[in-house]
Amino acid sequence: MQKGRIIQSTGSWYKVDLGNEIVQSRLPGRFRLEGKEVTNPIAVGDWVDITVGKDGSGNIEKIHQRDNYITRQATHGRRGEQILVSNLDIAFVVQSIKQPKLKEGFIDRFLVTCEAYEVPAGIIVNKMDLVSENGEAFVEELKNLYEGFGYKFFSTSATEPNSLKTLNEELSDKTSVFIGPSGVGKTSLLNTIDPNFSEKVGEISSFSNKGKHTTTFAKLIKLSNGGFLADTPGIREFGLFNIEPWELSLYFPEMLEPRRECKFNTCTHLHEPSCGVMEAFEQGKIDAGRYDSYIKILESLQTIN
Ligand code: GDP
Ligand code: ZN
Repeated sequence: MQKGRIIQSTGSWYKVDLGNEIVQSRLPGRFRLEGKEVTNPIAVGDWVDITVGKDGSGNIEKIHQRDNYITRQATHGRRGEQILVSNLDIAFVVQSIKQPKLKEGFIDRFLVTCEAYEVPAGIIVNKMDLVSENGEAFVEELKNLYEGFGYKFFSTSATEPNSLKTLNEELSDKTSVFIGPSGVGKTSLLNTIDPNFSEKVGEISSFSNKGKHTTTFAKLIKLSNGGFLADTPGIREFGLFNIEPWELSLYFPEMLEPRRECKFNTCTHLHEPSCGVMEAFEQGKIDAGRYDSYIKILESLQTIN
């Protein structure tokens, strides 16, 4: 038996990376029954044990328990959730300082999703070469705010390789994913970090939806720094569909302490009496922009649920 990692799946075949070789492998039917609550019993990013037959193809014998995974609602009218990728070390939200303009709401929503999935999160603010003078102070404030919550923060220019040194180190030997609207520079950043990136993505990819074909299957791309990057179509649709409104503040690190003072344990920190979070906000202990994001996300949850 050999341990390897699923780096690509087509639904019937799985590519397993054993470190020194990649083996096309099959998944016995019994796993499909075991993984009933999700539409895919095995996902890109999973660690598996395989046996390799005489013809060189693999048989998946065991799926190791996942550290974490992110999902989206299954498509094509199928019920349940689809695992997009598993065993992520870090997920990055990418924004640009302008073209398109940075959206703090996008960042906060992403961070909440990562908290809910127990995936460590980081923030990349790109196109720093386009920043104005006040813009620099603004980015510094963002950095202090988010680093204060424990998130990694990088400001970069894809055109300036020196600005990518620390990010490159962060990505090496990790499994990561870049998420952000189109045009912020995800592909450019990755091409600067690994000049062969676009070639590796190849034509079956839909990274940034620029590939020739779109596929609903993810893959892991090995970067030249040793890290894996998940190229995951549909990842922008991963979202917050299973969160109850009262749970939301659990995913804002700065609200964890104050919410203990709330009179009601289902407090949504909007209008309830004796609310620790509102009190902390009034005392200036919670950033106004973050509280604003909290309210917007809360409202969107209430329309879903
Ligand atoms: P993606 O859709 O997020 O993958 O974004 P791309 O990597 O395709 O970049 C979108 C556009 O922004 C391209 O025209 C890039 O040349 C440009 N771009 C990317 N990064 C930077 C940067 O750091 N500075 C500037 N000025 N332009 C950038
Ligand atoms: Zn409250």
